[in-house]
Parts: sequence; C-alpha cells; structure tokens
Amino acid sequence: MKLKVISLIVITCLLLVPFTTAEAKHKINIPDVLGYKTLKCDFHMHTVFSDGAVWPTVRVDEAEREGLDAIAIADHIEYQPKKKDIPTNHSRPYEIALRRAQEKNILLIKAAEITRETPPGHFNALFLQDINLLDTEEFVDAVKAANNQGAFVFWNHPGWKPKFKGWFDIHTQLYENLLMQGIEVVNGNTYYPDAHKWALEKNLTMMGNSDVHQPMVGTEITSENHRPMTLVFAKEKSIKALREGLIAGRTAVWFKNQLIGKPNYLRAIFKKAVKIDKPYLRRGDTIWFEVTNNSDIDILVQGGLGKLTLPANAITIIKTKVDSKAEQTELRYKVTNFLIAPEKGLPVNLNISLK
Ligand SMILES: [Zn+2]
Ligand SMILES: [Zn+2]
Repeated sequence: MKLKVISLIVITCLLLVPFTTAEAKHKINIPDVLGYKTLKCDFHMHTVFSDGAVWPTVRVDEAEREGLDAIAIADHIEYQPKKKDIPTNHSRPYEIALRRAQEKNILLIKAAEITRETPPGHFNALFLQDINLLDTEEFVDAVKAANNQGAFVFWNHPGWKPKFKGWFDIHTQLYENLLMQGIEVVNGNTYYPDAHKWALEKNLTMMGNSDVHQPMVGTEITSENHRPMTLVFAKEKSIKALREGLIAGRTAVWFKNQLIGKPNYLRAIFKKAVKIDKPYLRRGDTIWFEVTNNSDIDILVQGGLGKLTLPANAITIIKTKVDSKAEQTELRYKVTNFLIAPEKGLPVNLNISLK
C-alpha cells in the first residue's frame, strides 16, 4: 500500500514537470544591411583536440552566451601536443559539438588549421568534408586538398612572427592559383594593418577571429570589450549562405571599438544604426536635436564641429549653431572608428532638416 502511494506521488511529480525549457541568450546589436542578415561569427578557436584548454561543447556554450550565429572550431592538424591523452582524431571536435550547436541555433562549420612554419604560416580551412585529407607532407597539397572539397581558405595571423613578417612567394602562389580566399586582419588582440592593406589590394575577404585557446571568461560585453568577430552579410542564416557570403567577400570585422571593412558595408551599418531627428528646439541660430545610436558600437565622429561620441544603444543630444535662415544643414564628418583602410575613417554626411 505504502509503495503504491509513493509510486503515485512519483508519477504525479513526473507529470507535473513540463517538457518545456526556455533560456535566454545574448543579442549582439549590429543591424542587418543591404538586404542581408548580419551574421556574427568566430571562425577560429581551439579545443583539447589540439592545444586548446576546453572540450568542444564549451565553445558552443560560450558562443551562445555571447550571441554568436556561427563558429568554426579549427584545431591544428599538425600540432597535437595532447595526443598521448587525446588521440589524434581531426573530426571529433566537430562531431562532439554538433548536436549542441544545432540545439542552440548556432551554425557549426567543420574546419581545421593547417599549421606550418612561417612562411607560409598558418591557414584555416572552413566547410571541410574530410579533414584527414589535409594531413599531407607538402603544405601546398594540404591547401589543395581543402580547395578540392570546396573549402574557404584564409591566412591566419599574418605578421604573427615579426622576424618573418611579410607577403612571401608562397602567398603569391596561393593567391594566383585561387587557393586562398581570405586573410585575418584581426586575430585575438592584434590588428594587422599590412593584412588590411593586402585584403584591399588583392580583394581578399577580411576576417577577424578570436583564436581562443583558453576558456572564454564571461565578462560583460561592451563596445570595447567583446571577442573579435567576423560579420558576414549573408542572404540567410545557413551554412550555404555563410559560405556564399565569405566567397563573395561580404564581411566586416568588429575589433574592440572598431569596425573594419569596405566603405559600402560600413556606411550601410552607420546609416541603419544612426537615426538623426529634426531639431526639437531652436533659439535664434542655435538648434538642439537628438541622434540615436541603435547599435552595440560606440560611434566616434570627427568633423567641423569637433569630436563627438555617439554611445552604443543611447540617445545623444547635440546643440549647434546654424545659419538662421537655412532650411537644411549638412554636417560633414568622419567616423574615426569605422576603418575603410589603415588609419582611414569612413566619411559621412549628416543631413539635418531645419524646417
Ligand atoms: Zn595559428
Ligand atoms: Zn589557431
């Protein structure tokens, strides 16, 4: 009798537990532009399957916490310092992380890092089918094996070893044979102006990734403090669209409080993020108006009226003088933290209607 009562209680309890869970994830506020979705991505991270310090599923949890849309675990193929504890198996990080990524709506890209002495240096290959085919004696054979699988290949942390800094013949060979499609302009804490220049000159896709090895320690995400990421302007949130966007070069890089990319994408982000209202007060030749920044990036502008900061996700009140008879005024500015080339900010015009 007693057992029956207990069983009944247990069954009732089980029935009362609803099979519904809800969890919130961070949302990165950078607008969709030009008819594309702005996917927030990190295509370079490591796990215990090479020289990283975390299990593959941890990378998915971190990406969820930080609001990323897509990630690639790119463990070193040739550098396996933990192989006595964790046998070399290039596919395992992807296989282990995949289910969790699917459940969290994060696109997980099968990837690896081809790891050779500089030059040539290190290269990531994304969208791989079989990583084992990249485990070759000759460097160029590994890059070719990646390309044969339809991979997107980019040069990692160029300038990582200052002694061997530069664009070498091997890079020309890869570039001229269409074996390398992108380049890291940003890796971890470092911005590479040379890589930025080469990306523009040679039309290589600009990449910015964390290359994280340790656990991502959860701190508050701000305009200045966040992992570096590649923004991909994609037709939709899918692996296919992501690949298409990368090959077409539709990216920008969010690094600390800077956005790096081609002028058309940066201008589109500026226009979508910044809303300028009509003046709400006018006293003689002095006007007051509000500018709203609907993005996570503090926007720094510099021009005729000096320097202004439009803080992220905030409204800024601007007071300025205008010609008392004018119906419209145009303020010419440079967005100093939207880089269209090394040390070159994005020019913008702010049009204010005074009617
Ligand atoms: Zn590397
Ligand atoms: Zn790496």
